[in-house]
Amino acid sequence: MISKPKGTVDLTDKRARVFKYVEEVIDSCMEKYNYNYIRTPIFEASLLFHRGIGNSTDIVTKETYDFKDRGDRSITLRPEGTAGVVRSYIENKMYGTHNLPVKVYYNGTMYRYERPQKGRLRELSQYGVEVLGSSDPMMDAEVISLAYNINKMLGLDDTVVHINSLGDKESRDKYREALKSYFKPYLDDLCDDCKERFDKNPLRIIDCKVDSDKDYFKDAPKILDYLNEESKEHFEKVCEYLDILEVKYVIDSKIVRGLDYYNHTVFELMTTDNNLALGGGGRYDNLVSTLDGPSTACVGFAVGLDRLVDEIIERDIDNVRNDIDAFIMYVNEDEKKNAIYLANLLRMSGFVIETEYTERSLKSQFKRADYFNSKYLILLNSDDLNEGLITIKNNKTKEEEKIMMEYVIYYFDEHISDDNLPVEEYHNHSEGCDCDE
Ligand code: AMP
Repeated sequence: MISKPKGTVDLTDKRARVFKYVEEVIDSCMEKYNYNYIRTPIFEASLLFHRGIGNSTDIVTKETYDFKDRGDRSITLRPEGTAGVVRSYIENKMYGTHNLPVKVYYNGTMYRYERPQKGRLRELSQYGVEVLGSSDPMMDAEVISLAYNINKMLGLDDTVVHINSLGDKESRDKYREALKSYFKPYLDDLCDDCKERFDKNPLRIIDCKVDSDKDYFKDAPKILDYLNEESKEHFEKVCEYLDILEVKYVIDSKIVRGLDYYNHTVFELMTTDNNLALGGGGRYDNLVSTLDGPSTACVGFAVGLDRLVDEIIERDIDNVRNDIDAFIMYVNEDEKKNAIYLANLLRMSGFVIETEYTERSLKSQFKRADYFNSKYLILLNSDDLNEGLITIKNNKTKEEEKIMMEYVIYYFDEHISDDNLPVEEYHNHSEGCDCDE
């Protein structure tokens, strides 16, 4: 037997349904915030990630899937979505043809050669947004509240945003130096990764998972004390707007994010009963120019769909429908033709219909109908059909009635259309959805 590659998952059954449901909630929320869907290639020139994300990041140094294609080009499977969107923005000259800011969202698979464990895959799915062409703190706040509100719409009411500011280049350079002088006496005691980070990317020492409990980490300098006036003002405005948007957040000086391209606002989405981040993002005002585009202020985030789905399944809070409207039963060829006709008619009228595909005993058909939690059974019988009649049985109350086949759509319209609200409508009826207010 050939098994799936390490660090990948098969989406099947309930997990697949919850996944689709989460995607539908995301799509519907993005529409309300007027973010346009964007789809960029899963593989890109390796240089895009080396230059874009930065050579000092774990993602680029240790985790990319790199290969040479048959034309000897260096190709990388995308480890994240931002670099591809920025490349597309530049290549398609969106800065000239679009009304800025450009607001886009994506949803797709990313590839990271990580050690597989719970919540850590090699093929992972992320949705994310990128806003290109606005430096206004209102944009940071909108992006953060969008991620937050989608979590709330999905029922993750205990979501808290951990937010921090890395400031502008001047503030960060000052902070870098302060960190280096602070950690210098402890250099020998730091883990191997942090020894390397000390020169390349000292900010990342702050979110070291190995040493962070050590006493001297607690007194390390905090970036917020090193922000210049402009950076401080930007951060205060973001917090002020988040208050208006009623986003639950905490200021967390440990959030520095792994990637090199961030400045000013950085944030992660956490839930209170799980300390794995569901997503994160921030402002990246220099990435477009690093990739040879015109200077463009940007902000965005990415959320892991696999972890979102895990949380929703663990808490049993999905609104996924796992039943069908009707199962059509028959025993002979003449009835089968009517079943084919009726199934088509009802499906095209918006009902969820299953039927039998080979002539099997009624007993096994009842079993299959129960397996699909069918609300109704449609029982076909040649004698009735000759008179234009079909039997409809409510599978819960067990009441049944004969109706004229030509009225079947009216019958179902009357009896079950209220249950057939699309996912979006379900959520408009649920509590805690800020998106529709
Ligand atoms: P990042 O792009 O590293 O900031 O990650 C954003 C989100 O993507 C994380 O908060 C996770 O939810 C998800 N994520 C990142 N790496 C993985 C992975 N290896 N497996 C599953 N989800 C991941």
